[in-house]
Amino acid sequence: MQVDFANIPVDNVTLKESLDKLDELIASQGPHLVVTPNPEMIVAAQEDNLLKQIIKSAALRLPDGISLVVVSRILRRPLKERVAGIEFMLQAVRMASLKHYRIYLLGGKPGIAQKAAESLKNSFPSLLIVGVHDGYFEHDGTIINQIKAAQPDLLFAGLGAGRQEKWLAKYLKVLGVPVCVGVGGSMDVISGYKKRAPKIFRRLYIEWLYRLVTEPWRWKRQLALPKFLWLVFTKGLKG
Ligand code: UDP
Repeated sequence: MQVDFANIPVDNVTLKESLDKLDELIASQGPHLVVTPNPEMIVAAQEDNLLKQIIKSAALRLPDGISLVVVSRILRRPLKERVAGIEFMLQAVRMASLKHYRIYLLGGKPGIAQKAAESLKNSFPSLLIVGVHDGYFEHDGTIINQIKAAQPDLLFAGLGAGRQEKWLAKYLKVLGVPVCVGVGGSMDVISGYKKRAPKIFRRLYIEWLYRLVTEPWRWKRQLALPKFLWLVFTKGLKG
C-alpha cells in the first residue's frame, strides 16, 4: 500500500518490511531503484517532472521524515512508521554482511566513502565492500565502468538529494546493479564526518532544529517543511 503526498507516492512500509522487500529485489536481479522521499524531495518533485517520474517508477519509496508520518495520521491515511534512509542503509548493510551481498559506496567528499567503508567493516567484519568512490567526479563513464567491474549487488549513492536519483535512474540499466539506493548524506554520518541529531531531538520531532543550529546555511532548504505542510493540507493525500 502507498500514500500519495501531493501526488508523490510513498510506500507504507516498516523498516522490517522494507528490508524484506530489499531482499526480494536483490533476488530478482533488477535493476531496481530505492528512493527515500522526505518533505524536501516531495516539494522539489512538484516542479521537477523528471524527479516526480523517477519517484513514481521506483521499486521502493521509503517514508523518510517524521512529518510524513504525522501528516499521514492527521489526514487519516496513517503511515506505519518513519523509515530513515540512514537506518535503512545500516540495516541493509547488516543484511548484506549476513547474506554475502556485495556492496559499493558512491558519494560524499573525497575520502568519506572510504571512511564509511572502514567504519562499516568494523561493525560487520564479513561485509563485502567491492568498491568506493567519492561523489565529486567529472566523467560518469569512468565511474560506471568501475561499478560494473566491481559487480555489486547493492549500490548506495549519496550524491545529493535529487541529483543522486536522476543519476541512478539514468544509468540504472547500464550499471546492471540489482538494487541502487539514494542515501543523501548518510555516508557523512557513518564515516563520522557529521553527527546525526541526538535521540532526544529525534524523539521530540525536532531533528530539523538540530540541523538548523549545526548547519545554519541550510536554512533555505528547510523552508521545504512549511511548503510541504501547505501542499499536503491543500492538495491532500491519496492512498
Ligand atoms: N554530494 C556529492 N556530490 C555532489 C554534491 C553532493 O557526493 O556533487 C554529497 C555530499 O558530499 C553529501 C551528500 O551528497 O555527502 C549530501 O546529500 P543531501 O544534501 O541529499 O544529504 P542530506 O544531508 O539531506 O541527507
